[in-house]
Amino acid sequence: MLDSPRPTPSVLGVAIPSPLRRLFDYRPDGPAPADGWQPGLRVQVSFGRRQVVGVVIECRDTSDLPLDKLKPIDARLDDAPLPADWLWLCRFTARYYQHAIGDTLQNAMPALLRQGRSLTPRTRERWTATHAARDDAPPELSRAPRQAALLNMLQQHAHGLVTQAVLAQSFTREQLKALVNKGLIERHEEPMTGGQQPQGAVLAEPALPLNGEQAAAMARLHAGLDTFHPCLLHGVTGSGKTEIYLQLIEAVITRQRQALVLVPEIGLTPQTLERFRKRFQCTVVALHSGLTDNDRLDAWEAAASGRAPIVIGTRSAIFTPLARPGAIIVDEEHDGSFKQQEGLRYHARDLAIIRAQHHAIPVVLGSATPALESLQHATAGDYHHLRLTQRASRHAPARLELVDLRGRTRQGGLITPVLEAITTTLNAGHQVLVFINRRGFAPTLACHACGWLAECDHCDAHMTLHRQPPLLACHHCDHRRPLPDACPDCGSADLRPLGSGTERTEETLAERFPDTPVHRIDRDSTRRRDALEQTLTEVRRGEPCLLVGTQMLAKGHHLPHVNLVVVVNADAGLYASDFRALEHSAQLLEQVAGRAGRSAHPGRVLVQTLHPDDPNLRLLAARGYDALAEQLLEERRAAGLPPFRFLALLRLESPAEQDVSSLAESAATATRAFIEHSELDIECLGPVPAPMERRQNRYHMQIMLGADKRSRLHAACAQLIAWMEAEPGARRVRWSLDIDPQTL
Ligand code: ADP
Ligand code: ZN
Ligand code: ZN
Repeated sequence: MLDSPRPTPSVLGVAIPSPLRRLFDYRPDGPAPADGWQPGLRVQVSFGRRQVVGVVIECRDTSDLPLDKLKPIDARLDDAPLPADWLWLCRFTARYYQHAIGDTLQNAMPALLRQGRSLTPRTRERWTATHAARDDAPPELSRAPRQAALLNMLQQHAHGLVTQAVLAQSFTREQLKALVNKGLIERHEEPMTGGQQPQGAVLAEPALPLNGEQAAAMARLHAGLDTFHPCLLHGVTGSGKTEIYLQLIEAVITRQRQALVLVPEIGLTPQTLERFRKRFQCTVVALHSGLTDNDRLDAWEAAASGRAPIVIGTRSAIFTPLARPGAIIVDEEHDGSFKQQEGLRYHARDLAIIRAQHHAIPVVLGSATPALESLQHATAGDYHHLRLTQRASRHAPARLELVDLRGRTRQGGLITPVLEAITTTLNAGHQVLVFINRRGFAPTLACHACGWLAECDHCDAHMTLHRQPPLLACHHCDHRRPLPDACPDCGSADLRPLGSGTERTEETLAERFPDTPVHRIDRDSTRRRDALEQTLTEVRRGEPCLLVGTQMLAKGHHLPHVNLVVVVNADAGLYASDFRALEHSAQLLEQVAGRAGRSAHPGRVLVQTLHPDDPNLRLLAARGYDALAEQLLEERRAAGLPPFRFLALLRLESPAEQDVSSLAESAATATRAFIEHSELDIECLGPVPAPMERRQNRYHMQIMLGADKRSRLHAACAQLIAWMEAEPGARRVRWSLDIDPQTL
């Protein structure tokens, strides 16, 4: 409680939904909230010609403008500020990523809060019997058998029932009212999400007894429950990382705290959720893209009020407020989906670390194939390195077997010895997973007479050939075209698919194995909600079958009957220009391999390649991801690349090539002048065209900044942004700064 009320400030510095990196000053108007004006209160203000919802960030008595020139706010939307931990994180994020605070808050807020709705939970009614069950119905119900039956039903449920459950049994609201009037039952109102928390036991099913390695990891986690305690839980697929998360969460809940779990975009499957919901008695709130705006606001409120002890979500869930934070878990921490690739380009894993530090709580990054950044932190001692080297099922993970593609004819991308291995596996009653990193029928369509290739009119890219339905589609801009009857260049009708995608491999396998079901899993086959889960449920029944899929299949899914994994082509990442390409492809290969032989049978992983002698691929095959990662880290150190150096990328794009290149040129010149002047040890590279220069008819260029110290890099970025904001030429060009870019 406050001793004296906060004095009303003369000026409110308000964050407005806009890309401008500044606050806008308004005058408070109307009655102050009970606890006084504070950061985090939402206000409605006029901004230009719009009415917008802004958030008060500063309360002060001065402004750069004369006070009598300030516009008053139009309305105050909150009695109490939005959660302080959330506001802190947003402000940190805006500062670190040098992004407009107004736009950052927009990103981090449920849609309904952005629209001005209040942060109050929706409620529902619950009905409980006031009298314990008796053998006979009370005499006043002798002539109302339905009421007697309803009372009896409620007496069977110690916590009562919600209205929906009552009506579902064909009882009516009138019967409920009649019983209330007779004093036999009571009506309670509770929040829809997390309203009813069971008392007593935390667990709904017992925890598994841990093996030695798990127990050692768990002991370290138990020792750090009340401090900032960053851990890399580095364990092979199937080694029981999830069991560790569950037991950590149990410890957190027992201490009346909340756990936040981040999973990759495609990792938040009903199966994953089921595992958490089965273990715990309490509410598990899931934040995923399928929620309605109302559900999302409820979930946010339940987390903010502390009613939801467990919150699970994808990237943006890092911005969920928590009343009593106890631990943060990032599963599959190496996954690319944790980095937002547009607008506010934050990395949820990095923010998880920062947030845990702020709250002084443990944070666990779990992966079988940790990001090189995380491995380096673990090696340097910044993170505890918790290793799980054994699978819970006692089978060593399958090693990769390289299969030479050179000079071999392929059918649907597969060569004969591989097709034979598939036959053997199916005959033995097992399942086969064929991994191919391209959806569609074939990467492109080619003319055999003149060499013409189908190219996108809007991008520097080939168009992918699809058969279901037949068309050419650009996977970069989604432009579609009907299939040509003849070559547009020479008129020849000899047009043939070049290479293989999931549809073609599916077709080949279906022809070759007519008696075996073939399931294709990619973005096209799973557009319908639940389609993926339906297929996987079928697959988990264990009948022999073939699965053809993209990386959607590589992650998280437990496929116990898959005994052979085939990688159609491992070469994509080997010689790519992006410095992280090899790391990402090695992670993907190891993750795919992790799908094999999770049950009683040891599995095989066949990896087709045109480069069987590539030293990196050989190292990965012979000694696994960890050995390759160690070598890649040495290479990064020698080359002065992350995690040994910090990078920022200025991206510029416009439909007018000339506008982009001249702006990029002057921005680089201005940056170099600043660097020279400040004598900071910063490198400025570029401008250079982006890897795909023309995309959706827009020209993309970039400038890269690199430094050994984060603070220096940030100083240079701030200068560059100030220059861009003042430069008239920059208004015709779309630009953004990417701090710690994942792809160059
Ligand atoms: P990860 O998350 O590392 O891939 P999981 O936690 O999913 O591994 O564990 C793989 C399988 O092993 C699961 O079926 C899980 O129930 C089982 N498991 C994990 N820990 C144990 C344990 N200590 N004892 C028995 N089974 C375990
Ligand atoms: Zn031609
Ligand atoms: Zn395109």
